[in-house]
Amino acid sequence: MRLDKPVVVASQNPDKIAEMEEVLSDLGVVIVRGQVWPEVAETEPTLEGNALLKARAVAAYTGLPAIADDTGLEVAALDGAPGVHTARYAGPEATNSENVSKLLAELAGCDDRTARFRSVVAFVTPDDEEIVVEGVLEGEIGTERRGVAGFGYDPVFVVDGRTLAEMASAEKNAISHRGRALRALRHALSH
Ligand code: IMP
Repeated sequence: MRLDKPVVVASQNPDKIAEMEEVLSDLGVVIVRGQVWPEVAETEPTLEGNALLKARAVAAYTGLPAIADDTGLEVAALDGAPGVHTARYAGPEATNSENVSKLLAELAGCDDRTARFRSVVAFVTPDDEEIVVEGVLEGEIGTERRGVAGFGYDPVFVVDGRTLAEMASAEKNAISHRGRALRALRHALSH
């Protein structure tokens, strides 16, 4: 089991860090906080590429095993968009709210609102051991925002009639793309 050493969560997004730390703590993984590293630009064309880019950079910089996540929202009626561009959907400096507004506008009047979140998680050690896993959450895009929990597109991502923003964090983590990917990583590392 190689998660017996403390790991760094390779993210600068406070919402994502909080979520990853919650799941990893539940899985018994010890997290090192307070590490700093230069910003890593997400320049790869795939979620896999960007997750590896971030984990490699942070492992090399801190000298500690690093776990990075890259997540995309894939909407069927938009041919899988915004996908790897999910964070910048409404423009390079777009806020979560602007991204959600653009998504709702693009889907206005559209009956097929099927979508999924896909998280790719990369685990990289300073001696170049690498594992990549993914987790998927199927759902649909609502017609309006509902709920105040979570972050990003949570207020419009509906699973079984409720948005992710209407769920407590433990409930979201139990079903979410990121929760699934992190549990898959834990499983992969225990074999
Ligand atoms: P990234 O993985 O940090 O590049 O995030 C991609 C985009 O997806 C950002 O706009 C995030 O706000 C959004 N996002 C990532 N994870 C979630 C989630 O669990 N729920 C809702 N939005 C998310």
